[in-house]
Amino acid sequence: MNWKVPVGISNHHVHLTKETYEQLFCEKIEKLKDLKQTGEYASKQTVTIKGPKGEIEKVRILGPFRSYNQVEISNSDAFILGIKPPVRKSGDLENAEKITIIGENGSIELQNSCIIAENHIHMDQKDLIKYQVEDNSLVKVLVEKTRKGCFFARIKASENGILEFHIDRDEANAFQIENEEELTVQK
Ligand SMILES: [Zn+2]
Repeated sequence: MNWKVPVGISNHHVHLTKETYEQLFCEKIEKLKDLKQTGEYASKQTVTIKGPKGEIEKVRILGPFRSYNQVEISNSDAFILGIKPPVRKSGDLENAEKITIIGENGSIELQNSCIIAENHIHMDQKDLIKYQVEDNSLVKVLVEKTRKGCFFARIKASENGILEFHIDRDEANAFQIENEEELTVQK
């Protein structure tokens, strides 16, 4: 059984602890808009991220606050910054890259914080049964456009997960994929 999944393209962004945020900003964090995943939002506040070779401005902070700091960038961003972050699942930060983030109040160098996020398909427990897949397993997602290709995507099930295939800007650009476009998962 093949099934369809809508794409959500993640631009570079940061997740911060409350403590880190409060070191970087005086003002309270403010919601700009809700994201598709339940409870997640883009904030009005942005930071500059900096590596040995360059920096990127206006990198959005996503909320709510987490128990760890995590900066998610694309490989193209990594070239600009002059760092080599590993491709990782969210939260898997052992030996991740160090990076400097700059807010209104100053800057912080974060150790083991920068990754290139591994692509993944969000869903809830009902979807696991509906699509006959297991959490953490890999499925094939087909791109059948002018440029043709295939992703291996990891299933990420959670209680309130909403069906969505998260890829980064580089992956989207490689196949000219648009946000909310539907791709086919091959079973
Ligand atoms: Zn995601």
